[in-house]
Order: sequence, then structure tokens, then C-alpha cells
Amino acid sequence: MSKHQGTFVEINLNSLQHNFNYIKSIISEKTKVLAVVKAYAYGAEPSKIASFLEKLNVDYFAVAYTSEAVKLRQVGIKKPILIFHPQPENLNAIIKHNLIPTLYCFKILEIFKEILSTKKNKNYPVHLKINTGLNRIGFNSKEISELIDSINKDNFIKIDGVYSHLSSSEDKLESDFTQKQISLFTKSVTKIMGEISYKPIVHLCNTSGIINFPEAHFDMVRCGIGLYGFSNKLTKNESLIPVVSLKSSISQIHFINKGDSIGYNRGHIAETNKKIGTIPLGHADGISRLYGNNNGFVFIKNKKAPIIGNVCMDMLMVDISKINCEEGDEVIIFNEKHSAEQLAESVGTISYELLTALSRRIERKFII
Ligand SMILES: *Cc1c(COP(=O)(O)O)cnc(C)c1O
Repeated sequence: MSKHQGTFVEINLNSLQHNFNYIKSIISEKTKVLAVVKAYAYGAEPSKIASFLEKLNVDYFAVAYTSEAVKLRQVGIKKPILIFHPQPENLNAIIKHNLIPTLYCFKILEIFKEILSTKKNKNYPVHLKINTGLNRIGFNSKEISELIDSINKDNFIKIDGVYSHLSSSEDKLESDFTQKQISLFTKSVTKIMGEISYKPIVHLCNTSGIINFPEAHFDMVRCGIGLYGFSNKLTKNESLIPVVSLKSSISQIHFINKGDSIGYNRGHIAETNKKIGTIPLGHADGISRLYGNNNGFVFIKNKKAPIIGNVCMDMLMVDISKINCEEGDEVIIFNEKHSAEQLAESVGTISYELLTALSRRIERKFII
């Protein structure tokens, strides 16, 4: 028996390659691809994913936080790594590991310049983040003159890239808003270019932006969820193949009588005699309690088995009354056929959340 009680995350690198090639096929040959490998590569384990993509000659990587980038350097990733949201206390590590910080406010700009000056570092590459409407992080367009003046005043910083992030690229009903973001971004870029004597990499689109707004690809696209095989709900794309599967097996089967209860707090009371299966997977593995009580489901022998009762920390129970199955049989929580997106939707969330919640204690197996 496996030490992980039969539950594992399977990552198909062929599908990753397929998705990478698909994304390349819908952008211009001149447009670079940045692969987003934040949040444990969307649950898929970042070092293998990044090494594989580096071999496919991806142009750039990005992560959210410095510690994620340091780990990639430690496993030998050589390509540029952009950090979306660095904090001031990580700027020394960023320089040490040759990482590219996003500068998004005057505070971090000034602190970074001070560090570069004490290290006598010149022309350090950064990307500038412009806030065009997401209102999360970034300089507002009105701050650009002051920003470029400050960068031009000395030569500590080189603007390697300028970017912004779309708030609703998956939502066709919000396309007017997206167009406004694109035009504000274009104006901001033009303003920056007018005040420096070299050309930074300009980038705006995430996965659904790549698919829905081909006119806004600029010099590079930032692809996250698309590489892992999903587009957003409203831009479902049959050409992408889900890379990550979650599989397990039935640990034990119980035959219970009408009126018996299942799980903590007697979450489910059997309305008829039932056959139930226990699966070694729980909320500590990333399957939230929200999936319990008939909301979520798994697949056994290609048949849908609803999760009954409350999801426990390490286990959950499913109703297999109508399925001809035995202890040890394979359980598919999601795979390329039974999509993670569908399961996520059953509790009102999105594939991103389900994938990134998968706990590190679940073994990752790679297939190619
Ligand atoms: C996470 C993230 C992305 C990737 O988005 P996907 O929808 O997964 O492609 C791109 N850009 C920024 C700034 C992000 O935070």
C-alpha cells in the first residue's frame, strides 16, 4: 500500500506541452510567452513544471512571491523570473538570486533604489505595474511622470518591462471595461516610452485575455491557468487539456441501514439502506467542507458518486449504492474527462481555487 493512502495528484507533461504549443499557436511568433508558476504551479509542483517549460524554451517565468522564485533558482531555473508582488523585506534576496521585481508604488521604488545604491548596483531590471482598473497593486496613470522622473534621475533601475492586469478578461459582458483598461494601458505605455531611450517588454494579457483580446497581446503574454488546461468558465476552450488529475481509491466499504448516520455531527442520515465508500482525502488535502453533504462528487467506474455527510480532515465518504465496486477500486476526483472546473462549480468556486488548494501532503506523480 502506498504511504499516501492511495491518493495522488497526477501531472501529465504531454498535456502541458500541448497547451503550451496551443497558446503559441494563437499568438504572433514575435510575442513572448511568460509562464505563470505561482501558487505551487497552480497545484502541479513548480520545479518540474518550470524545468519542463524551460526545455520547451518558454521566454519568462513569473511567481507571486519571492520565496517561490528563490526555490526555482535553487533547482536550476535560468530564465528570467518576474515577481508579481514583492515586499520590501525581500528586495535583498531578489538581487542575490537575480530575480526581477515588480515595482508598484513609490515606497517600494524608493527602498529598492536605496538598496541598489548601497550595493553600487546599476541598471537593475524591473517591471513597472500600472493600475488600469483592477485596483489591486500598481501605479496610477497620473503618477507616471513622477515615476519616470524618479527613475531617470539616477541609473539604478532599468525598465525591463511595463505591464498591467485585466480585471474581467474572461467576461464578454465586461468587454467595454476591458477595452478601457487596454486603452488606458496603451496611453500609459506611450507616455513611458516617450521619456526613456530604450524599449521595455510590454505585456497585459492573462489566459482569458490571450484568448479573448488578441489585439492586446503586445510584446508578451502571461499564461497561467491555460498552461494547466483551463480557460475561464465563459471562455471554455476545447483546445486546452487539463494537466492535473486527482485520483484515489476506496479504502473501506460499509453497508448501512436506513436511519444510520454518516460522519461527523451525523451530517447525513440514511433515508434508505446504503452502500458507502470511504476515500482517503479530506479538507486538509484541499477538498473543503463545502463539498460535503451532496454538493461535490467523485467518479468510480465512470459513475458519479456524491459526497455524503461532512468532509473530514483526512477522509470523506461517498454514496456508492448504485455502483458495482470494491475496496481498492480507483476513484477519480477530477481528470481530463471529469473536469476540476465542474467540481469547483458545484460549490460556487473556480478551477483556480480547487487546484491551488491541493495540499502538499498529496504525492505528485508525473507522467509523460
Ligand atoms: C496569476 C496572474 C496571471 C495568470 O493568470 P491566468 O488567468 O492564470 O492566466 C497573470 N498576471 C498576473 C498579474 C497574475 O497575478
